[in-house]
Amino acid sequence: MRTSAHRPLRLATRGTTREINRRIALNLIRTNQPISRADLARMMGTRRGAVTLLVTELIGEGLVFEGATGEAKRGRKPTFLYIDSRKRCVVAVDIRPTRTFIMVTDLVGKQLASVTSFPTERAPRKFIAALVKRISGMLVEHKDLGRCQGVGVVVPGMVESTAGRVLLAPNLGWVDVDLRDPIAAALKLPVQIENSGKACALAQLWATRDGKTPSNFVYITVSDGLGVGVVLGGEIVRGQHNIAGEFGHVPLNIDGPRCGCGASGCWEAYVSNLATLSRYFGRDLRERPVAAEAAALTVDDLIARARGGDAKALAALLSTARYLGLGLGSVVNAIDPSHVYIGGEIIAAWDLIEPSVRAGLAERALTASARMTPIVTVPPEQYPRLRGAAALVAEPSLAGEGAA
Ligand SMILES: [Zn+2]
Repeated sequence: MRTSAHRPLRLATRGTTREINRRIALNLIRTNQPISRADLARMMGTRRGAVTLLVTELIGEGLVFEGATGEAKRGRKPTFLYIDSRKRCVVAVDIRPTRTFIMVTDLVGKQLASVTSFPTERAPRKFIAALVKRISGMLVEHKDLGRCQGVGVVVPGMVESTAGRVLLAPNLGWVDVDLRDPIAAALKLPVQIENSGKACALAQLWATRDGKTPSNFVYITVSDGLGVGVVLGGEIVRGQHNIAGEFGHVPLNIDGPRCGCGASGCWEAYVSNLATLSRYFGRDLRERPVAAEAAALTVDDLIARARGGDAKALAALLSTARYLGLGLGSVVNAIDPSHVYIGGEIIAAWDLIEPSVRAGLAERALTASARMTPIVTVPPEQYPRLRGAAALVAEPSLAGEGAA
């Protein structure tokens, strides 16, 4: 497998039938391994001969391997197919305005070691130096996990992923930062960077067990900011300037609270974790100095308080839920997705907030069926952003160099 620090992620053009069949086959093998050719053909709903051709091609490229012989009642015993993820690992990085999280996974996105974190340095050069030091240390510490295939980095902002640059990350104060190449040069590893919402959407595309991922969906990640990834026709929508899907900066109210992007009343300014906590404390936490109590409280703490009977905490969560639903109405009206996935800390309170989110959506969505758009929650303990980061490295390597 050729790896290059400068290889672009070619998501937007990977649309041929052959390529889609390859991706479906790889996903089915990855999620059902070990699997026989006959079962693979059955799951793909295609002829055995077609699958044999495809599998021969994948084996030839070293993406799929034949494993232990399986059990069969009579006749020739089938050999099983699997993706060899042994002795190969991926480093996943989730940059957030306050802390940066790192997880080591195998090539199929499975967590191999506990998640670690360190405070996010605001100056890009200092941040890159700190990140490189951390990753180098981890790779030495986890030598047993095998050769590192690359580093995937999700960024809370707009990214030009082919050039490896952060265009704008409002909550970090980063404008046009060369992020990928300095990390790749220092670590001597391929590095991929991507916007958090788009990376989560990619991981979602990649994660589905049956290969029948909805081809039109929206992924929303609510955290320090609000990331949105839009998938149409099985492709991540990037737009002409890499800002497509930035619903977080569509205003709910032009006279609303100040947003990290410099404008007022953006959806993000109503639903981010900071917005929820600001509502609880009755003051804008973006204004300095922030009281020690406010600086230390997290959304997880707030949810615990709400469950413990703190009416103000519950009210703050429910307001966020309503704004989340209202903004979702705009997303549904603009994109008309088959599903909406939502991840983020606030999802831990989904049992409390779902009716308010649904009511907000119902208030704005234009038709009865749009109001019923399924919402699928992704629990924080699944680390969707880190899985998105891992998918940046693993997904292109699984798709192979022949990706059109
Ligand atoms: Zn904004």
